[in-house]
Amino acid sequence: MCGVFGIWNHDEASRITYLGLHGLQHRGQESAGIVSSFDGELHSMKRMGRVADVFDATALDALPGRSSIGHVRYSTSGTSIVKNAQPFAVEFGGTSLAIAHNGNLTNAGQLRESLTAKGALFHTTMDTEVIVHLLAHVPGNSLMTRLQQVLPVLEGAYSLLVLTPTQMVAVRDPHGFRPLVLGDLKGAPVVSSESCALRLVEAELVREIEPGEMIVLDNEGLHAYPTARGNLKRRQCIFEHIYFARPDSKIFGQDVYKVRKEIGARLAREHPVPDGDVVIPVPDSGVAAAIGYAQEAGLPYEMGLIRSHYAGRTFIEPTSSIRHFGVKLKLSPVEHVIRDRSVVVVDDSLVRGTTSRKIVRMLREAGAREVHLRISSPPTTHSCFFGIDTPSREELIAANHTLEQINEFIRADTLAYLSSEGLHTSVEDGRKHYCDACFSGKYPVPIPRQVRFDPHLKERV
Ligand code: AMP
Repeated sequence: MCGVFGIWNHDEASRITYLGLHGLQHRGQESAGIVSSFDGELHSMKRMGRVADVFDATALDALPGRSSIGHVRYSTSGTSIVKNAQPFAVEFGGTSLAIAHNGNLTNAGQLRESLTAKGALFHTTMDTEVIVHLLAHVPGNSLMTRLQQVLPVLEGAYSLLVLTPTQMVAVRDPHGFRPLVLGDLKGAPVVSSESCALRLVEAELVREIEPGEMIVLDNEGLHAYPTARGNLKRRQCIFEHIYFARPDSKIFGQDVYKVRKEIGARLAREHPVPDGDVVIPVPDSGVAAAIGYAQEAGLPYEMGLIRSHYAGRTFIEPTSSIRHFGVKLKLSPVEHVIRDRSVVVVDDSLVRGTTSRKIVRMLREAGAREVHLRISSPPTTHSCFFGIDTPSREELIAANHTLEQINEFIRADTLAYLSSEGLHTSVEDGRKHYCDACFSGKYPVPIPRQVRFDPHLKERV
């Protein structure tokens, strides 16, 4: 998954972008980059690592100009190397262009093959580069004319920011899989994956960029255009509400924290633990749902597990050796909260099941009398091809095991998931406007065989 941030016409564009990227760090921690526009040229800086490690004052001084775009990356397509870091900047047609992309294109493989057959030379393995090649291959004097021809060819998820020396363009795919919002910083337009980053830079949230909408910023101001195929149905990612987005963001028109609490309350109604003593979250992802659960159940809410904020997020590290290395690096029990109690532990999702198994064991070792695991989403049975990092189906424990079998592995006293109905009613227009393919297998866009079985994607997605 990734995050994008951009600002147009501001004295300190790259510094504001740097701060904005800090606010989006949870969306990707592998690499960070900023491209700024000054005096007809683009200036770029990108590296592996987190925002604070990639940029310092000297690096930001080397990014002059009044407009810039930035990107934080967690690779779901393309390997985790600096060449694949974004924004992706190129020279073409006598000008320069940089692009920052959140989402995955489902037809990138096919497009890449046909472009390669026409002689295109690819420098990276990212699907984002496909967009750049397509832009170079179509006729037109303006970026907008080119984009209007290229966007209808793209399938899948894209929230994009494009920067040239004279324009910044923000686009959201017609399904609106990934969030993208428009803000205003004292007259300077700002675009961000999530609203939490707007607050950080003291920009106002203006509105969501609509699915199938393109916003062009240039010397003449801000203009919004529908893109071709703008009549496709909204299919926003429901997992953004469950896990991915930050709880202090408003995405798809709803407060993430409120949605998560509501999900937790429904989970409590659907799967109560009559003899439970205390509700604890798996921090940080389970916190809001656990609060909702505890309030609804009338049970005390406690921090029974403490997360180290210096170890990174579970499973967001690219290699499985690191992921399996140890939940202990990240979580530690508060013994007196747990000892001799019947503990209800709430987490947002169960993917491979390995984390939950270790957590249950940790809670028992800390003296829990009973451990009841409650998951604030339905069983994850299908991989995501739209930008969320989920493993291949064989690795998804719920794809090929019954609830009982899963619990045999997890070893909780009881295990229960939120129902699909419960999830959809917790989110406004849940059934109508959301993609829940990871829980239902109903992909809103056909997934080419090549993508489903790509050995690289199989490994990563
Ligand atoms: P697992 O051990 O594979 O079952 O991992 C489940 C944990 O991973 C849960 O605590 C989730 O909070 C977290 N998680 C779920 N999906 C993702 C994702 N796409 N990226 C990072 N972490 C995730």
